[in-house]
Amino acid sequence: MSKKRCSICGKGALEIRREPRRYGCGIDVILVDIEVRHCPACGEEFEVIPNIERLHQAIARDLAKSDARLRAGEIRFLRTYLGYSSVDFARLMGVSPETVSRWESKGAPKRMALSAERLLRLMVLQNEPIRSYGLEGAGASEGPPAQPLRLRVTPTGWESAAA
Ligand SMILES: [Zn+2]
Repeated sequence: MSKKRCSICGKGALEIRREPRRYGCGIDVILVDIEVRHCPACGEEFEVIPNIERLHQAIARDLAKSDARLRAGEIRFLRTYLGYSSVDFARLMGVSPETVSRWESKGAPKRMALSAERLLRLMVLQNEPIRSYGLEGAGASEGPPAQPLRLRVTPTGWESAAA
């Protein structure tokens, strides 16, 4: 099998390694041991992230079950994951569009009420075939999450990877 050539410089034969990478989706996510193709000639790196749809499902599921209160970027991720515009989301949650903007504000976010936060978590989890959502502890911790979410690719999708 011939090695793939670098699409940037056209010279290097790409070397494949398994490495952790941060996933740029506006929230703190580490993908554990994804395939990264390195070009020895120009130093370019190409990350291979399979099954993006399932990855977003896994991120949304882990966020919905997290102990920590949801942060602005996480609320925005979950809203867009559910497919709502901020106007539709405001209508659904019974708040003004300005309130949604403040929930998602990077600078000075306004914290969601815990009940609204749990409603958002439930909307994310409602299609999951699990008996208990374990929401009783969700959002119980006031501080930021101690660790980023960690996800590992499997043959069928993405699973949580313990730190
Ligand atoms: Zn190259």
